[in-house]
Amino acid sequence: MVLATNLGYPRIGAQRQLKKALEAFWSGKITATELQSRATELRKQHWQLQHTLGLHHIPANDFSLYDHILDTIALVGAIPERYAWSGTMVDLSTYFMMARGTKAVTAEDTALPAMEMTKWFDTNYHYIVPELTPDQRFSLSSTKPLDEFLEAKALGIYTRPVLPGPLTFLLLSKSHTGTLHLPSLLERLLPVYEELLQQLAAAGVEWVQLDEPCLVLRLDDEVRKLYHAIYTRLSNFSPRILLATYFGHLHENLQTALNLPVAALHLDLVRAPEQLQQALTDIPSTLSLSLGLVDGRNIWRTDLDRALQYAERAVQALGSDRVMLAPSCSLLHVPMDLEQEPDIDAEIRPWLAFARQKVEELVVLTRALNEGRSAVETELATSREAIQQRRASSRVSNPAVARRVATALQQSAQRTSPFAVRKAKQQERLQLPLLPTTTIGSFPQTSEVRAARQAHKKGKLNTQDYETFLRHQIEETIRFQEDIGIDVLVHGEFERTDMVEYFGEHLQGILITANAWVQSYGSRCVRPPIIYGDVVHTSPITVRWITYAQALTEKPLKAILTGPVTMLQWSFVRDDQPRAETCYQLALAIRDEVQALEEAGIQIIQIDEPALREGTPLRVEERERYFEWAIHSFRLASTGVKDETQIHSHMCYSEFNDILDAIASMDVDVLSIEASRSQLELLNAFATCRYLNDIGPGIYDIHSPRVPEQKELDETLQAILQVLPAHQLWVNPDCGLKTRRWEEVRPSLTRMVEAARRFRHTS
Ligand code: GLN
Ligand code: ZN
Repeated sequence: MVLATNLGYPRIGAQRQLKKALEAFWSGKITATELQSRATELRKQHWQLQHTLGLHHIPANDFSLYDHILDTIALVGAIPERYAWSGTMVDLSTYFMMARGTKAVTAEDTALPAMEMTKWFDTNYHYIVPELTPDQRFSLSSTKPLDEFLEAKALGIYTRPVLPGPLTFLLLSKSHTGTLHLPSLLERLLPVYEELLQQLAAAGVEWVQLDEPCLVLRLDDEVRKLYHAIYTRLSNFSPRILLATYFGHLHENLQTALNLPVAALHLDLVRAPEQLQQALTDIPSTLSLSLGLVDGRNIWRTDLDRALQYAERAVQALGSDRVMLAPSCSLLHVPMDLEQEPDIDAEIRPWLAFARQKVEELVVLTRALNEGRSAVETELATSREAIQQRRASSRVSNPAVARRVATALQQSAQRTSPFAVRKAKQQERLQLPLLPTTTIGSFPQTSEVRAARQAHKKGKLNTQDYETFLRHQIEETIRFQEDIGIDVLVHGEFERTDMVEYFGEHLQGILITANAWVQSYGSRCVRPPIIYGDVVHTSPITVRWITYAQALTEKPLKAILTGPVTMLQWSFVRDDQPRAETCYQLALAIRDEVQALEEAGIQIIQIDEPALREGTPLRVEERERYFEWAIHSFRLASTGVKDETQIHSHMCYSEFNDILDAIASMDVDVLSIEASRSQLELLNAFATCRYLNDIGPGIYDIHSPRVPEQKELDETLQAILQVLPAHQLWVNPDCGLKTRRWEEVRPSLTRMVEAARRFRHTS
């Protein structure tokens, strides 16, 4: 019999119950017991739902109060020394200390920083990075996997516990105290896994899922050999192991994976359907295959006919007892339930499937294989119809857009003149002082601003009053910037909820959801827009706000837009055309907005691309092609202006040292960049590669509420001036100010302007 399985379910809850419980606990409103009981309730609901829907293998230990890698850090007792943990089991307060750090309560206290967080492969989910020492010791320090298995068992549900595999865990780890030596760390880590697997087997676990997504990366031969050694060892003690790979093709690691002594191997057949054929040819007779046929990274309904073709091929080759059906990866990366979107566009709704609907699809596919297609004829027909409607819909394809992209791609997308010429013309027009000061765009989104937006959304504040309110906010922000002497002003972005959602709301081909939340980290969730069709800019989006702001001041006003790559990265994208194509369309839509702003007399336009780096493919050999189309998209968006119009861009959240060539080819007039951590190193890299366009390195960290002292800002600026010449530099914070309070922003910016003034006269 073919089995319907799942690799992981979203944890946050359909009404974001986990978020609410966590935040209530952190602010002292509920007790730890209450938090745990709400978490138990969520797990119960999710297990029962998957059980009722008819899954054979339901995951356990996929739930987490914060992050599953942090859970594993606790599980193996790899608690960094600074958290002063002693004991045998990791307690909740140590757990949250690692996740969030601590605040200093008294003057003698020192605040403890949280552990570092980074993106989980190429998703927008963030995990806590394990921090190990070269001589790290491990010990089994949590009973979570066992507890959750028993908890489900008590409900009559036999689950399949999920754990990150030992190699992926170590490959994702970092050390601040020396090089990590994989084989010796494994020697110490494996006994912990062995102990745990034995406990699970004793408790009645039949299958465990060990996630080894690192197998989709390019690995050294040494590491590949370790995979074999480890799984040979683990399979002695363990329940049957399903080894899960996802987020791509295994390439040269496929043979390694197929020959591991495990019971089943999971392949991502959404990202890499072509690996099925090879797997079926080379698979040893003892191995079962788990086919990842339902997209765990996107919200589209599965083409069940197509998925069935793959599944039938596998059943034919292996027999139904060696085949499992699964989502391509954990469903953590999709929203929970389409039922939570009653008001979504009625034509588009049938095209979508969220986590719950994806589980339903898996069950239908499995029944088609086990009972014959006729058993699920209605479901297959409904699905087929939705797929056909989507394919044929005039909302999806707009031939004019395709033609425009094709024509645009014939051109090189360059500014008319080289930077030096543009700079002279812009300077003549703008008359900016040396070391011009500016900000990144947003000003505090106060509770007042958020309340007004909510009231407007709920119909309690009419549009006219809401807009009056926004104009008032803009005016105050302009006056403030003028008062403290900022050179290039912004309007403050008060009308925007989120930099991607706002533009998504106004472009044709993009849908905004009401409740389609996806966990980003801890209790933080995002609601990515859905790009469903060819993207069209139907009318100006920002012009009326920007021209209003510009009319209030003699100083130049900088308009802020979101760039095409960031729009793409932070949305659910179409699966019926390459990402590049969607990105080009977004680029042309933004190009139209840029042109509208220029025509309205705006002289400075910033196109934010904080997510440029994030789009980098997991496999090294695919990176060049990515940067080619990503940069071309940015240039399509940004180069349709006269020499006199100054184009800025802003980037943050990542390291840039290794993508300076790509950044240089964006050819922006001014680049503001977050560089708070390794600032001088980055600026040195810019200097060494002879980057000539203007740069605004963030001179203070806006992610902290701390107001920088004048002296610190002076010193930072001085240090920057040692590396880059004054005529190339701008002075700005390192990111937007929307999460800060006015009480912090006022003194910080005042001092920033003062620092620029001091050096202006001495440079
Ligand atoms: N212009 C945006 C802001 O100021 C940029 C946000 C970002 O860099 N992520 O908020
Ligand atoms: Zn930023």
